[in-house]
Amino acid sequence: MTIASTSSPGSAAPVGHTHVADLGACLDLINSVEYTDGVPEDHLATIDALVAWLADHSVGHRDALDAQASSDPEAWLDHVRTCRLALRDVWDAAVEGRAVGQASVDTLNRVLAHAPHVELRRTLAGVAVGHEHDRRDPTSEALARLAEPLVAALAAGDVERWRICANDDCRWVFEDTSRGGRRRWCDMSSCGNRAKVRRFRSRRRTPPVAESPAHVDRAPADRTSADAPETEEASPVEDRTRTNSR
Ligand SMILES: [Zn+2]
Repeated sequence: MTIASTSSPGSAAPVGHTHVADLGACLDLINSVEYTDGVPEDHLATIDALVAWLADHSVGHRDALDAQASSDPEAWLDHVRTCRLALRDVWDAAVEGRAVGQASVDTLNRVLAHAPHVELRRTLAGVAVGHEHDRRDPTSEALARLAEPLVAALAAGDVERWRICANDDCRWVFEDTSRGGRRRWCDMSSCGNRAKVRRFRSRRRTPPVAESPAHVDRAPADRTSADAPETEEASPVEDRTRTNSR
């Protein structure tokens, strides 16, 4: 049995830093593909953006990630995107109570094989906890860090607060931290209302009524109680802005 020391060459990481990812970071990565009216927009569409995001979330070291990405950019991008999709599939499957895709399981199991391990290290003053990096595949190591809190929650059966935005064109993933645990929308002030506005409009269009587009977008003055949205809100307010700060 050998005892790793802080001065061992090779993959030993510098002492004094840690890599921590929580479930929120994992969800941030999943939601970096954002759906607006069902159309996906990748907010981390480039290698630079992904490397910066991973480094900023302290799941990997920028130089190591950069080096691996530049050695085969296409494969690297494909790997990260495939993993991101697999994380979403796991989340969706757990929420929807359906079987997860086999390809997603295989993808994440390959990544989890690169999960970092901690080790105790002897110091002059006692003992410290260090970690070793996977120098051949630092990206899978970083992705494993992000997957681990999700896996841990699954292992603990702690998924009853996992949610997918009830707007089918949005599908933002989030944890419901509300007191009552009845949150259905990613953001009550925008997405929920937008869905309600849409539902409200579609009801008004049946049967079709000839009216100018300007009228369609305006809160109708001739609304009857039957037209009102069947929700806790008094009236739908169209929200034209949408931020990522949910
Ligand atoms: Zn939403």
